[in-house]
Parts: sequence; C-alpha cells; structure tokens
Amino acid sequence: MAFTTMRAGLAVAATLMATTALAQDYPDRSITMVVPFAAGGPTDTVARLVAERMSADLGQQIIVENVGGAGGTLGAGQVAAAEADGYTVLLHHIGMATSATLYRNLAYSPADGFAPVGLVTEVPMTIVARKDLEPADFPALMAYVKENADTITMANAGIGAASHLCGMLFMQAVDAPIVTVPYKGTGPAMTELIGGQIDLMCDQTTNTTEQIKGGTIKGYAVTTPARLDIFPDMPTVAEGGFPGLEVSVWHGLYAPAGTPPEAVDRLATALQAALADPGIATKLAELGTAPSPAADATPAALKAKLDGEIARWKPIIEAAGVYAD
Ligand code: ASP
Repeated sequence: MAFTTMRAGLAVAATLMATTALAQDYPDRSITMVVPFAAGGPTDTVARLVAERMSADLGQQIIVENVGGAGGTLGAGQVAAAEADGYTVLLHHIGMATSATLYRNLAYSPADGFAPVGLVTEVPMTIVARKDLEPADFPALMAYVKENADTITMANAGIGAASHLCGMLFMQAVDAPIVTVPYKGTGPAMTELIGGQIDLMCDQTTNTTEQIKGGTIKGYAVTTPARLDIFPDMPTVAEGGFPGLEVSVWHGLYAPAGTPPEAVDRLATALQAALADPGIATKLAELGTAPSPAADATPAALKAKLDGEIARWKPIIEAAGVYAD
C-alpha cells in the first residue's frame, strides 16, 4: 500500500516536472497561426503584421497558414481540433462570435473550444464599389442599389464573415435583397472588384485603404461613428442617413481549449509586445486603425469580449432567422 502510494506520488511529481520543463522551454519550435480567410485580405494583413513581431519576441517563427472558406469556420474548426500544445493558434475576427448562432451544426464551440489569448485590433469598414459604378456619393449609391437591386452584385467572405454581416445591414438599409457572391476571403474578392467583375463590397480598411487611395476602387462611406483621419472627405454611414450600418471588426488571438496556461500567457506577452511596437501602430494607423491597448490584449479581456459579442449577436441573428445551415 505504502509502496503503491509512493509510486503514484513519484508519477505525479514526474508529470509536474515535465509540464514545468515544457512550459519553461515554450516555444522551442515554430508556431502555426491559422487565418481563417484567404491570403492578401484584411485578416491576413493583421495576422502577418502581428506574427512577425511576435516571432521576434518568442524567438521562434510564427508561420501564417490561410484556411479560408465557410465564413471562417473551416479555419476555426481546424484550430479547435488541433493539439492543445501552444503550437497552433488562430487569428479570427467578429465572425467567431456570430458563427456561434449562425451555424447550428459546428463541430466545435466558439465559446468553449478555445483558450483566448487577447484582443488584437478593431478595424473600421468601408462601403466600396468598382471604380466605374455610376453614383457620385453615398446617398446616391443607396438609391441606385435600391433601384437596381436585381442586377447589383455584392462580394462577401462567406456567411458569418464581417463582409457578410455588413452586407446584411446594407440590404436592410436599402430594403432590398442583393445577389451576394461568396469568396474564401475578401483578398480574392478585392481582385474581382478591381477587375469590375463584381459591383460592391463592405470590407475592412485594412484591405480597402490602398485601393481607394490609388483609385482602383471607389470608396463611398465609412462604417464608424466619426470620419477617419485617412479619409477626411469620406462621409460616415450616419452622415449619409444610415446609422444602422455602423459596424467595426474586432480581432482576437486564440489557442485551442486546454492549451497550458503558461503557453497562453507567453503568447499574450508576445502579443502585447507586438502591439506596443511603434512600427505596428504606424502601419495600422495608415490603414485607419490602431492596436488594442495592452490591457485588452489579455485572455480575460478577449474572453469577456467574445462572450459579450456572442450574447449581443444571438438575438439579432435569431430575429433575422437566417442561418448558414
Ligand atoms: N474581410 C473578410 C470578412 O469579410 C475576411 C478576410 O478576408 O479577411 O470577414
């Protein structure tokens, strides 16, 4: 009896020592950061910026992997099912919260399937169109879309994507359904908008700023309560008479549920270091946004945000009665 107890005690001690060693050595190899949308889009842009700086802090490479499709749920599902060892993480956005209600048959739980690491940034959206779309300003665009709702096409990154949510608000605002075309991310959708194969999109400034400034697409309105410094001449949706179109896209970093807390905390520290980097702040400012403050780049802050956003969107989606399955 005494011998058995001693053996069990030794086993526990050995496990504890191994876990401690693991935590101390973490990370000792590269980390995969899954972006649940295509390369070249806005979520990808944020992820690559942050991953590069986090890699420097962690002393290990973070490799970004794009797993686009189904409004971000394919990539999120891949991370939820990954080994919870701190070597696979997910950089997702508001879609993490809306998918909890929009998708009734997910193989993972957006609320419980992840260990939140921290908030990353919150990004405004812009209503943009191919450069030769007729209307001269935002109110004219809304009238034009209402009149031509059966022929206008609008891109999105799948059900639950930010572009899809903004598109739903847009259709409510013009009070007409519009044909939507889903892509694996708004990176590829942007290519088609520039090419004129699609008419409209609502997308983060992290994807639209350079194109609007370069004149390859037309920017009509920003979805924030106030105008943006980068587009002083572009009206807000409220100025154009559509305050219900206000929406912004928060991004968070997650590990799979069950990831050792030491690894999650180390990731959070690296995230905070990245967000405190003036180079990242400057780049994000050029794209119309800012890094989340250090106090928000924490597991507790992201958990609170995610839970609050799941609760906020649930009744809205249920009232609309539109589901992805
Ligand atoms: N902007 C996209 C969305 O609509 C996603 C992306 O490609 O980053 O959610």
